[in-house]
Amino acid sequence: MSKKHNFGAGPCILPQEVFQQAAAAVLDFNGLSILEVSHRSPDFVAVMDEARASVKKALNVPDGYTVLYLQGGASLAFLISAMNMSGKNKKAGYVNTGAWATKAIKEGKNAGLDVDVIGSSEDKNFNYIPKGYSIGSDLDFLHLTSNNTIFGTQMKDFPSTDVPLVCDMSSDIFSRQINVADFDIIYAGAQKNLGPAGATLFIVKESILGNSTHPNIPTYLDLNTHFKKDSMFNTPPVFPVYTAMLNLRHMLANGGVAEMEKRSQAKADLLYNEIDHNALFAGTTAIEDRSNMNVTFTLTVDSLVDEFNEAWNAAGIVGLKGHRSVGGFRASMYNALEIESVKVLTDLMSDFAQRKG
Ligand SMILES: *Cc1c(COP(=O)(O)O)cnc(C)c1O
Repeated sequence: MSKKHNFGAGPCILPQEVFQQAAAAVLDFNGLSILEVSHRSPDFVAVMDEARASVKKALNVPDGYTVLYLQGGASLAFLISAMNMSGKNKKAGYVNTGAWATKAIKEGKNAGLDVDVIGSSEDKNFNYIPKGYSIGSDLDFLHLTSNNTIFGTQMKDFPSTDVPLVCDMSSDIFSRQINVADFDIIYAGAQKNLGPAGATLFIVKESILGNSTHPNIPTYLDLNTHFKKDSMFNTPPVFPVYTAMLNLRHMLANGGVAEMEKRSQAKADLLYNEIDHNALFAGTTAIEDRSNMNVTFTLTVDSLVDEFNEAWNAAGIVGLKGHRSVGGFRASMYNALEIESVKVLTDLMSDFAQRKG
């Protein structure tokens, strides 16, 4: 198998050691397969405990917050977060920064909330992060999307407000340091930077639990259900949680989030620098809002698209095609993507320009 460079937007690349350890556990996890082991067995309870504790360690989660692994992806978390944060005004603010935020807004309405979209970049196909919007004090919460996987923008800082913040961090969690205390709920589908698809990570301020004004939250969608059962209310996604635990263990042994942040910045600098100095390519987003995780760009000469596609395919690069709503190309550079892979791409771009320029 020749070396592949996976720039896919999700599910994500994970470290080779993690793939190997996860594969080994499918065959032998203390004598059974990880796939057949009881989730109530002490061996798996220890896995769940470590998977939760490692998130606290990695992100310096303060006391008074709980870490949960649920199912349904970020798509169900849109609804779960809205239902659980429903407060006395039943009113929520949303900043619409792209396709995922738009879906979150829809689920806020499905949760019965009066939804106020206080900022949006829809006017320019979401190529920037809205700023300077005012945050009404009557909002029960404000929903943000830290990184816009499809459009390639990222919030470099978060609004400072007394209104509780809820944030979808699916595609940049563990790639940069954050102050968890600024948020009431953080959630993330595992498959963008944490582990396999099938688990959804929640970091929840315990004081919000049980305070929802929603008239009838289904049992599974009530975060308090999971808090009270130590994230074991029903059968958890055993294999995704196990693999996420391995990945967290690997990350903590390799410098943690501070090191991931440095690596992400180096990878992003390398690629954006090539885009900005190569006449054949152009970035698609506002420079100050550029994502360090998902880099969106286009070819400036349309007639070269097929040839460029052939070139990166031949170099073992995978998943560089842009999302249909943006076009062009998207290089997703999650934690486990090595800078050597980014170098393969930038060398290819610069060779391509030399041959065609
Ligand atoms: C991928 C993604 C989602 C959707 O996640 P699922 O787990 O597939 O539901 C939501 N938000 C963001 C920012 C994403 O990148």
